[in-house]
Amino acid sequence: MHPPEAEPITGFLKRSVCFDEITQRATLATPEHPLAIIWIALDRFKRVNESFGHQGGDAYIAQIAQRLRAKIGITAQWYRMAGDEFVCLLPDCDFDHTNQIAATLLREIETPFPINKLLLHPSASLGIAILAADENPHACLERADQAMNTAKRAGGGRIVNSGVEPIPGRLGIYLARHELEIENQLHLALEQGELSLHYQPCLDSNGRVVSFEALLRCANKRLTPSEFIPVAEKTGLIVRLGEWALLEGARFAQRLAATGLPIPVAINVSRAQFTTLRFAQTLHAALLCANVNPELIELELTESLFMDHSMTVQANLRAARDAGVALSIDDFGTGYSCLANLKDIKAGKLKLDRAFVIALPQDTRAVAVVKAIARLGRELGMRVVAEGVENQTQLDALHEAGVDITQGFFHARPMPETALLAWLDKHGKTT
Ligand code: C2E
Ligand code: MG
Ligand code: MG
Repeated sequence: MHPPEAEPITGFLKRSVCFDEITQRATLATPEHPLAIIWIALDRFKRVNESFGHQGGDAYIAQIAQRLRAKIGITAQWYRMAGDEFVCLLPDCDFDHTNQIAATLLREIETPFPINKLLLHPSASLGIAILAADENPHACLERADQAMNTAKRAGGGRIVNSGVEPIPGRLGIYLARHELEIENQLHLALEQGELSLHYQPCLDSNGRVVSFEALLRCANKRLTPSEFIPVAEKTGLIVRLGEWALLEGARFAQRLAATGLPIPVAINVSRAQFTTLRFAQTLHAALLCANVNPELIELELTESLFMDHSMTVQANLRAARDAGVALSIDDFGTGYSCLANLKDIKAGKLKLDRAFVIALPQDTRAVAVVKAIARLGRELGMRVVAEGVENQTQLDALHEAGVDITQGFFHARPMPETALLAWLDKHGKTT
């Protein structure tokens, strides 16, 4: 039996009780025995409600609430703050312990379970705030809520500690509004099927096509990739877009193979996508649905992901290798690239960023760097690809420097599937 002030579906206390109790609990907190708050919001709950109706939604919430309660001892108190949001108050719980508990809760939530014969894969965004000395407990609650929202915007399926999010100034607010408009248009594009993949060929030094890179495009021409990709990355939408691109790209590779052209397709995977626990499931699902040979799929990841030692990323790297797909290091040479790291990275290809190619062949220092990377890549068993080749002079300089594969407008721009097939027909050379 739940107490009368409990909410019937979850058995958690009602939101209004939380506001009263947090004040009482805060009086017992000291710097040695801090009060911690975990704010949990389920990701994509609306979809469950839309698919299974309110009864299905209630059953889903009840299941998750039961799991959450079973995971933490009686000192913790649970509240239902909104349909799909819960708060857990943890007395005498420091930063490390709270983060351990949050990780356990997230794992628990992410264990799949069936509803109406469909296996659901729940996920959640968690925000953590620890009550500071003299802090108003309601302000602390708000910090936990904001941290949860940051986790959600980063794609969900993660934990964010309050205190790490930047505070927007006037410029921040202006940019946030602009991003919100782009985000809205992106949502619309996604719902109305306006997104597509274009494909750009990569050629070896004999002019043979060795692979295609899949690049996202939007039918709404005002939304250019350089504008919408960063916003999608910031808001977490990139996870949905990336999952869609993975499936579409895999289907394209299968269609090509079925017409006698088993040419690998490279698909970009963003950090937000690769840091979610469900990445491996999405990859398996895409390979299975597309019924494609995994050897025809390459994933392009940035170098920092290969060097990320978090358990999730390492598990995803293992899962990708076990699934048999190839891995490439994208945009090498930007960010904090480190040649010394290369020896630890197990990737089949290294893609040199366009910034190096632009400087060729006049910049002799750039030529020396490209030569060194091409040689190092080869010696480490990787094929080196140069991006953004726009003219014959650059192409010659790259071949001279020992770069195996080139990609760029000089060969072909990214094209929709039909145009690409026509291009292939004309170009002729495939491996
Ligand atoms: P990227 O993976 O490095 O892709 C190569 C970019 O270089 C593409 O830009 C391509 O159109 C552009 N490019 C190719 N050849 C040339 C050239 O000769 N000159 C110039 N100036 N540019 C060239 P795009 O399509 O605007 O994409 C930008 C970035 O957006 C990509 O960089 C990739 O990081 C990201 N992106 C694109 N599609 C996806 C996707 O499906 N998922 C994810 N996560 N990211 C994507
Ligand atoms: Mg790429
Ligand atoms: Mg790149």
